[in-house]
Amino acid sequence: INDKHHCRFLLFDNLSALWAEAGAEHAAAADSRPLIIIDENVRRLHEDLISKTFPAGSSRWFTVPSGESSKSTEKWEEIIDFAFSGPLRRNTPLVAIGGGVTGDLAGFAAACLMRGLPLFHVPTTLLSMVDSAIGGKTGINHAFGKNTIGAFYHPQAVLFDTRFLETLPRREWLCGISEILKYGYISRPELLGDASDLADPGTRSTDLLERVVENSVRIKSGIVAGDAREAGRRAWLNFGHTFAHALETLDNYRNTNHGEAVYVGMIAALFVSRLFNPDKKSELSDQPLLTLKNIYNLDLSDYTTESGRLVTLMSHDKKNRDHSIRLVLLDGSGQPDVKAVDDPVILRDAWQYTFDVL
Ligand code: NAD
Ligand code: ZN
Repeated sequence: INDKHHCRFLLFDNLSALWAEAGAEHAAAADSRPLIIIDENVRRLHEDLISKTFPAGSSRWFTVPSGESSKSTEKWEEIIDFAFSGPLRRNTPLVAIGGGVTGDLAGFAAACLMRGLPLFHVPTTLLSMVDSAIGGKTGINHAFGKNTIGAFYHPQAVLFDTRFLETLPRREWLCGISEILKYGYISRPELLGDASDLADPGTRSTDLLERVVENSVRIKSGIVAGDAREAGRRAWLNFGHTFAHALETLDNYRNTNHGEAVYVGMIAALFVSRLFNPDKKSELSDQPLLTLKNIYNLDLSDYTTESGRLVTLMSHDKKNRDHSIRLVLLDGSGQPDVKAVDDPVILRDAWQYTFDVL
């Protein structure tokens, strides 16, 4: 698959074959060793596989500690220093191998070094395969907020080797599932059933995984095309996310991870969507999400009395205008639209409903 930024999505082969197709010519032209920026857990679990493609003697490796705190100015600077500590040319390839944290951090370093090194993403989490490696956003965090320093910078190619996912922990797997469910609601309803089957280890298969990842790449790159900045269609990707961000903030990113918060947020967003479209109750049903309740297995008991504070947090969201809260809602299945909601009672009811059903 190609997107309009000339980024190539190379689907489903082993890493060596994909690199031979996408990157080897860059590496040869560069006459300097590629920089490999790799997540520490991925290195520990998959070093053998990766060093077949990038042998130690002909590449330079920098390991990124696991966790969101690596998206920092300090880690960014360490990568810059590391890059200049050996031979570096304007065409030295930079290969990011890991989840969204490594991809966002290494992508931003690639954007800045020599005003832009050729970047390659090797996503190793389900979330990074279906979401963060697509669309060209890179960046790091600042005390002022998450992802507040960054750049749009598109990779040359994204290489998909699904063998990495064999070691992905259960909760990280569900993070990706939540974004796939989101694509089902905003774009392609068939994905709802596929995502449920993929969530359950009992019904998961490689064929299904590959079909779902491919559909997700097409949906996200299609939505992002022609709208690199936040306006318009790209906002649809925030379905469930305004609710989710409030929960993440209240929780201080402790107990609920992003995918879990998005799962919860979509149930609330569907509740509000049904209020606006009472004739579409079955299309806007949250049943596909509720069937996964036992798999997500969330304990929201700390938050059930916090609906009021959650609504206050939502009104601080940076995407709002005036006194209303702007939400991505659905007018029908696969029909997202941004709507201003100015009645806080609706939002409190949405949270209360969500806590009741979960
Ligand atoms: P992550 O990169 O933190 O990875 C999650 C965990 O899984 C880490 O502990 C990591 O070490 C581990 N891991 C990675 N691959 C593994 C594997 N194959 N086997 C075992 N463990 C593995 O998290 P993520 O969910 O991939 O990404 C989240 C980040 O992505 C956030 O910082 C978010 O802001 C960003 N994001 C960016 C975009 C974008 O458009 N750029 C979109 C969505 C999210
Ligand atoms: Zn998300």
